[in-house]
Amino acid sequence: MSAWQIIRHRLEATRDAALLLLAPQLCRQCGALTEKLSDGAVCRACWESWLGEQARRPQACARCGRWAEAETEFVARRPQCEQCAPWALEWLRSGGAYVGALRAALLALKRIPMTPEPLRRIVRETWRQEAALHESDIIAPIPLAPRRERQRGYNQAALLAREVACAAQRPLVTGALARVIETHPQRAGLDARARRDGLKGAFRVIRPRLVANRRVLLVDDTLTSGATLDVAAQALLAAGATAVSALTAARTLLRARPGAT
Ligand SMILES: [Zn+2]
Ligand SMILES: [Zn+2]
Repeated sequence: MSAWQIIRHRLEATRDAALLLLAPQLCRQCGALTEKLSDGAVCRACWESWLGEQARRPQACARCGRWAEAETEFVARRPQCEQCAPWALEWLRSGGAYVGALRAALLALKRIPMTPEPLRRIVRETWRQEAALHESDIIAPIPLAPRRERQRGYNQAALLAREVACAAQRPLVTGALARVIETHPQRAGLDARARRDGLKGAFRVIRPRLVANRRVLLVDDTLTSGATLDVAAQALLAAGATAVSALTAARTLLRARPGAT
């Protein structure tokens, strides 16, 4: 570390301590006081614990990156799984499980348009580590319905897509795809097929020339059933995109099977 870097780190630590003394922030995950502004709404200990947990999940599906959910489960990595077999998406990767620190950070991102450093790193590393995603020509976020974007003032998926575009050195395209129907895909009790049916026609490509003959990488905050991304991918392919893959910051875990630990 150079002398300048050491000075910069000390200055940042002093600034953080001063600001957090004036306006203490409690970790959204555990309630402890946070120490670094760049960690966002989650404390360092919670980020470390989430990262430690992620490192122990073996990947179970080569196409969608789904991982084994129980640490003890032996997994033979397959070319595709039951969940991703019907998808129009070519490849999918997620930064990690929608639990703990990552879940708290993504919920906070819906209230404050600031992407904390650990979340930026997760998104950038997910892109870097997956060669299949490197062939994309453009990066596009999953759009919000216009009314919801007006209420929130921004689209959190676009903030994450910007990180991917930076890491990938590819253009960020936000105006090609529009969400024409406001949907509630997170509703509990709906299976993958019902969610997919509820999303039919939810997206429309409004500027086809931006996606025609291009490989598109879609970015969203959280993958639940995959239906949202898949329906958006179908719309892009119908408008002439060559291929569509996706990257999400998080992915919800499937319900643990009986007997799984
Ligand atoms: Zn915490
Ligand atoms: Zn899969």
